[in-house]
Amino acid sequence: MKQSPFDIAKELFYRYAEPLALDKRYPGQSLMERLTQPDRSVEFRLTLQLDNGGTLVSRGYRVQFNDDRGPYKGGIRFHPVVDLEEVKALAFWMYLKTAVVDIPFGGAKGGIAVDYQKLTVAEKERLTKKYTTILGDEIGPEKDIPAPDVNTGEREMAWIMDVWRMIHGRYERGVVTGKPVTIGGSQGRKSATGRGVVFCIEEAARDLKMDLFGATAAVQGFGNVGSHTAQFLHQMGVRVVAVSDVYGAVRNLGGLDIPALMAHVAEEGRVGGFKGGEPFSRDDLFYEPVDILVPAALENAITAAIADRIRARLIAEGANGPTTPEAIDLLSKKGVVVIPDILCNAGGVTVSYFEWVQNRQEFYWTAERVDEELRAVMTRAYREVADEAMRNRCSLREAAYRLAIARVADAAYRRGAQ
Ligand code: NAD
Repeated sequence: MKQSPFDIAKELFYRYAEPLALDKRYPGQSLMERLTQPDRSVEFRLTLQLDNGGTLVSRGYRVQFNDDRGPYKGGIRFHPVVDLEEVKALAFWMYLKTAVVDIPFGGAKGGIAVDYQKLTVAEKERLTKKYTTILGDEIGPEKDIPAPDVNTGEREMAWIMDVWRMIHGRYERGVVTGKPVTIGGSQGRKSATGRGVVFCIEEAARDLKMDLFGATAAVQGFGNVGSHTAQFLHQMGVRVVAVSDVYGAVRNLGGLDIPALMAHVAEEGRVGGFKGGEPFSRDDLFYEPVDILVPAALENAITAAIADRIRARLIAEGANGPTTPEAIDLLSKKGVVVIPDILCNAGGVTVSYFEWVQNRQEFYWTAERVDEELRAVMTRAYREVADEAMRNRCSLREAAYRLAIARVADAAYRRGAQ
């Protein structure tokens, strides 16, 4: 039977939590149960009025997984295959991620199962605002703070902030992060996840003695995370030779002109048709003979069958949960170094934290300061994970889980039974 994303998330947690022997360290505290069950899940029907007078029924979700270390925090995804199991998995990974980079948040996630791209802008606004209205009191700057994820961005965050202001009668910019800069967003938030992925790649390359200048990369997914990762790699002199999106892929062995490709995608909405490369099959991207592979689309993209044929030395997980447990084992046997999602893509939530701090102080940082602080957080987290891996002779993924679980378990224990 096919495992759900939540089953996979639990499997990985148990696998890496076992050596920590939480039951011995905190006897009688049921920490394994507490840390693998969401605090609360909300699922609801949304009926959207379409422009043509008809209606569209979809389902909305918000899962608040854990707030032992701080308020719930996590993105909102609008995608046809969203369901409760997926949202639970993503919320689970969020609280581990905030713990890996040691920022004072817990973890949550939300979404709507809808083909969002097919809606008009007016329909999108009504749907986002209805979702927020239904959640009403569930979210707030000291309770649960949404952010962008697949198919959502600063436009949706502005709509959410607006509805929250109408419901609660006051301005609270910190209710969401990833807002437009004109209404309290942070400099550098849009590109932060990609920026963080590249900071991690720099650290890993140093450990692997890989010269990034002239190294080659392939990126799966050319949305927020994939395009910015490609952009920063390109700026550093890495040759990004192949990128894909849901519709197709382009390749140029001499290196794609990423700024030109970003301009093309802004116009056309897809990488296909880009003159600076040749089209090829989206699903062959993983087999390119590159140094660095960046999955930046959706979960379970790299299965064991795919992992078997991967030729990259380094995989940087821009997406959440892109590698199945079997593929994780296979890649490890092959000696491929994988920077795990809960570390690699934590740049987004880190700058979200900076945005929330700026909103609380109503004092705004320069882009240079955001970048500097982000680099400090990501490199410190990477080094802590790499040191833990060295100490325990384990993978970066196991080390990241060990650090995160130990931090959250300690917080949960100190707070007592809730
Ligand atoms: P996005 O909607 O901006 O982009 C997703 C991209 O993936 C699009 O280009 C889409 O066409 C492509 N895609 C989808 N299915 C594909 C497939 N089968 N093959 C190739 N490409 C495919 O989303 P995003 O915000 O960039 O998120 C991507 C991943 O990164 C998700 O796993 C998300 O949870 C994770 N993530 C996002 C952020 C953030 O700040 N946005 C932060 C951390 C993690």
